[in-house]
Amino acid sequence: MTKSKDYTSLLNDSVSNVPEYVPGKTTSQIAAEYGLNPDSIIKLNANENPLGPSEKVIATIQKEAENASLYPTADVSNLRRALTAYTGFPIENIVASGPGMDSLIDALNKLFIGAGDEVIVPVPTFTYYGISAASLGGVCVDVNLKPDYSLDVDSILNAVTEKTKIIWLCSPNNPTGNIIAAGDVRKLAENTKSIIFIDEAYVEFSNAGSLSNLVKEYENIVIGRTFSKAFGLAGMRLGYVIAPDWIASALLRVLPPFAVSILAEAAAIAAIEDIEYLESGVAMVKEEREKLIDAISKNTPYKVYPSEGNFIIADVSPKTSKEAVDEFLRNGILIRSCDSFQNIGKNTVRITVGTPEMNQKVIQMFEKFANQK
Ligand SMILES: *Cc1c(COP(=O)(O)O)cnc(C)c1O
Repeated sequence: MTKSKDYTSLLNDSVSNVPEYVPGKTTSQIAAEYGLNPDSIIKLNANENPLGPSEKVIATIQKEAENASLYPTADVSNLRRALTAYTGFPIENIVASGPGMDSLIDALNKLFIGAGDEVIVPVPTFTYYGISAASLGGVCVDVNLKPDYSLDVDSILNAVTEKTKIIWLCSPNNPTGNIIAAGDVRKLAENTKSIIFIDEAYVEFSNAGSLSNLVKEYENIVIGRTFSKAFGLAGMRLGYVIAPDWIASALLRVLPPFAVSILAEAAAIAAIEDIEYLESGVAMVKEEREKLIDAISKNTPYKVYPSEGNFIIADVSPKTSKEAVDEFLRNGILIRSCDSFQNIGKNTVRITVGTPEMNQKVIQMFEKFANQK
């Protein structure tokens, strides 16, 4: 087919500055690429819940399917009420949206970021904050975490300029697994004029609990949450924020009118109601996480870091993360190389905590990999 004219000059200048997001691959992609049986692949590369959604959630989604022709309730009030019970925050302070928490990262950037505005991102961390800001013409200022991956509050404060609008924090941090101290967040909230976002995608797995109470004290702190991890609903693409009134109502103005699908809302409510399922899954992850860390630390020369998330990282130096990912994959185990994150180098892999059976295979695989030349 002959093409008509080239219209690419119409694109916003910001588009060419948007970095690529590198997602974990799906089982079917990997099966096709490596000629593997998809059912035999152990998928531990995207921090999904290895147990899947609860039976009650599956039944709810099936039942709700007959309403798929209808628009959902625009204000998502049933879900927000359920989240009020789950978080302890009033409905006015909760905004739910899809696709995923990513949609709320976009919406928050949309509220504050115009061409030339800056966001600060302590790296290594989740990469979408900066990608989303860049798509709006924002400038992402990376500030390194300390060598032990703790937050370098002074370096962040030094990086703040008149143009800094949002500081993106993640606790527990993806991929490093550590948490941020409330005192560090207070220091940033009090000593800058910026919005402080705390991404709590993994908070359910943390022994330290949530930093959400800070929202009651500070008008510039926002907490992000998701149904993708502990709730086992990554495919439903639903997230929410806990935000001060003024930010919550501003977010509702910029979000699309029906930002939560009817299936996602029903599934999320059922998931919150099946709290026993959530708690038993979280208990499994916490127990298995420590077993993985102990076994890999003891049985291999690799450095494994403590984690408060449903994943761990291991430094496989002198081997590269790419070598590890390839070798694990040849054995049917899908893990994540961290080389697409800033400031973590080429030797670190991230592994989602799986079921006990999966983790046993991961430990054996680590031992085998460590013994290979
Ligand atoms: C998985 C993840 C998210 C994205 O969650 P979705 O709700 O699936 O968009 C956000 N932040 C971090 C740190 C994550 O790991």
